[in-house]
Amino acid sequence: MRVVMKFGGTSVGSADAIRRVAAIVSESRQSHEVVVVVSAMNAPDLRTTDTLIAAAHAAARGDGGSTAHVAPRLLELHMGVAAELAPPAECAALETELRAMLDYLSDLSRSIAVLGELTPRALDLFSGLGERINARLIAAALRGAGVPSQAVDATGLIITDDRYGSASPLMEETAERSRERLLPMLASGSVPVVTGFIGATRAGVPTTLGRGGSDYTCSILGASLDADEVWFWKEVDGVLTANPKVVPEARTLRQLSYSEMAELAYYGANVLHPKTVQPLVQRRIPIRILNTFNPQHPGTLIGAGRGDRTARAVTAIREVSMITVGGPGMLGLAGVAARIFTAVARAGANILLISQASSEQSVCLSVPRAEGASAVAELRKELAAEFSDHDVEHIEVLDSVVIVAVVGSGMRGTPGIAGRVFGAMGAAGINVIAIAQGSTENNISLVVSAEDGDAAVRAIHRSFAL
Ligand code: ASP
Ligand code: MG
Repeated sequence: MRVVMKFGGTSVGSADAIRRVAAIVSESRQSHEVVVVVSAMNAPDLRTTDTLIAAAHAAARGDGGSTAHVAPRLLELHMGVAAELAPPAECAALETELRAMLDYLSDLSRSIAVLGELTPRALDLFSGLGERINARLIAAALRGAGVPSQAVDATGLIITDDRYGSASPLMEETAERSRERLLPMLASGSVPVVTGFIGATRAGVPTTLGRGGSDYTCSILGASLDADEVWFWKEVDGVLTANPKVVPEARTLRQLSYSEMAELAYYGANVLHPKTVQPLVQRRIPIRILNTFNPQHPGTLIGAGRGDRTARAVTAIREVSMITVGGPGMLGLAGVAARIFTAVARAGANILLISQASSEQSVCLSVPRAEGASAVAELRKELAAEFSDHDVEHIEVLDSVVIVAVVGSGMRGTPGIAGRVFGAMGAAGINVIAIAQGSTENNISLVVSAEDGDAAVRAIHRSFAL
């Protein structure tokens, strides 16, 4: 089987963690073709990418020596790990290479300071350096563990547009380059260690795929190489039925459908971003979420398919405001919904939930709390005429509510699910303020007051025996 696997920043955050990574790769390689994608190192006291970005901004403010104290710390961090995991001869070569990369960064920071301006293009040169360093370190550590391995800069594989800072891959060219470069390595039994997060334009100018972009790199390569599976090694045992801080008995979901994963990501569960895994979902490539620090655990397998005929997980978005626009004249007032949404969009507020009963007397919508006040201000402006005609009589805001979302793609067409959700609310004495269910029926969302949020999540978790 061909597997593309990604290790996140914490999974490569120390010599001990990287030793685990080497053991995982070495073991996987016994039965699979393996391509590794790595993030920059997140050591407990040094988050590489954040540090690099901060140095770039300091340079733009005129501090031409901004890398002067950053470069030695990065060198020390990475070489300290190398000393533990790579053979001495490898360490010397690695150090020469890292020094050259960091010198380049110092030159760059001086130029930025002279110009007094940091373009997104220059920022990408800075921010992507952590992955370049780390791929070399991990490849050396793998060789130290007896695994033939080679670092590969994704600038030669992932061809993107030129939206610096959040570039998108040009999939056909990327697939061609990746196959050309990586398949011979796999055929020769070597493990490519590819930099996450970065790519380059057709002209070869380095870009980045956006913060957290290493997951995206992994998906792009998984799709390009026709991987049989793509594995994301994280610091948790997969996707959980609920936040364990709220529901102590939350457990790992062994299986999840793509659409359930997307719903969960949207509703704040810390899984994979839907955009990130789109290349895999499109090709129906199965995804696993596994724990670097507990590799025996089977984790969560995410794939096509419909899931059980029940709810799978329950999650909550906090810090939400609910706005209700109502009045007797709203019945049959064509275009009022469109104007409401346009006004909210003008305020720059992101609508999380919408609900309107068919009596059309009111529309309610939820937005992040920080965006509530400006949304209301825009609504009052937009609907001023309707107000004076009394078609619209109130715009009310509940300042602090929680959206609780029950997710499961098998809920579709299964009667009784909503009954159980609301039965659980009733039994727990929780007042439901608003309800929404999309017609895909993957998700039932309820709005409850902030102080009821945790109790609602627990009650639902219990009632479905998740
Ligand atoms: N190192 C990059 C970041 O911190 C990419 C990643 O970790 O996925 O955003
Ligand atoms: Mg990260």
